[in-house]
Amino acid sequence: MVLGAVNVDMVVRAPRLPAPGETVVGPGMERFGGGKGANAAVAAARAGGRVRYIGAVGDDDIGRQALRELQDDGVDTSGVLVSTASPTGVALIVVGPGGENQIAVGAGANGDVSAELVTAELARVLPGAGGVLVSTEIPEEAVAAAVRAAHGAGVRCILNPAPVVPVVAELLGLGPVLTPNAGECLALAGRPPADGAEPKRDQVLDAAHALVAVTGAEVVVTLGADGVLVVRPGGTSEHVPPRPATVRDTTGAGDTFSGVLALALARGVGLDDAVRIANAAAALSVAGEGARGGMPTADELVAAEP
Ligand code: ATP
Repeated sequence: MVLGAVNVDMVVRAPRLPAPGETVVGPGMERFGGGKGANAAVAAARAGGRVRYIGAVGDDDIGRQALRELQDDGVDTSGVLVSTASPTGVALIVVGPGGENQIAVGAGANGDVSAELVTAELARVLPGAGGVLVSTEIPEEAVAAAVRAAHGAGVRCILNPAPVVPVVAELLGLGPVLTPNAGECLALAGRPPADGAEPKRDQVLDAAHALVAVTGAEVVVTLGADGVLVVRPGGTSEHVPPRPATVRDTTGAGDTFSGVLALALARGVGLDDAVRIANAAAALSVAGEGARGGMPTADELVAAEP
């Protein structure tokens, strides 16, 4: 089970990012499937999982296309709400010449994912689920309902706190496996780096230990091109180096990581091997365009990480 947002990403590559009030013109527009929940669902399905995604789209053309794309990747979308109240979520992205970007998200129907919807869906399907992956671009009460339902049913919950929202702090005691990136790890532990400085690995490690002390479960921190940090209950930790990658577009690397990690854990793979597989999948994902372009199939993953 994967819960979180689904968006349509619309990307314009421009000669520079626009200043306030300015219009910049690029040669065209590219459209990619996005939203951390939907991306992770695709990553897990492409890697061979049987995946059910819960979220919401609007009753509009881009929403129907978003659902078709999920279905084409084998994701079960029968639990997705088609909202008549809101349009499908969109991310409007301008990319400058050096790859820097400016993003505005219209959350749209993602804001209509209610605690009631989540609770009803999970009550029906949780008994047969190997794991639940939750990301936080949906209303906080829906996030809380999902983590609480998984905990109540004794099903392993992976919580990707992206972005960090206040309700996450309330859910840590329920023992989800956390998959923050470095900045999210520091923010969750209440130790953001001074004036936006680049986080140091030691600081992140300390913060992850502090989180493990609260959750009593593994904290798996993604470090981008620096690989992964794993901290386990009991206090042991390990730095897993990155896999070699051809970097084209790193959008969605974290979603690929959490989706494939959740799938491996749901299948009963031990944490160390699950992290190794997810690290390999995420390294492959950065070679493709958009969040989903490089996400590997099960065969591609086996070839890269036998
Ligand atoms: P996003 O928000 O774009 O999904 P994120 O900040 O959540 O990203 P990152 O920590 O940037 O996630 O990356 C997730 C994982 O992807 C890393 O832990 C690593 O396994 C893999 N990865 C990312 N960049 C690279 C790279 N340049 N080379 C190899 N692996 C990479």
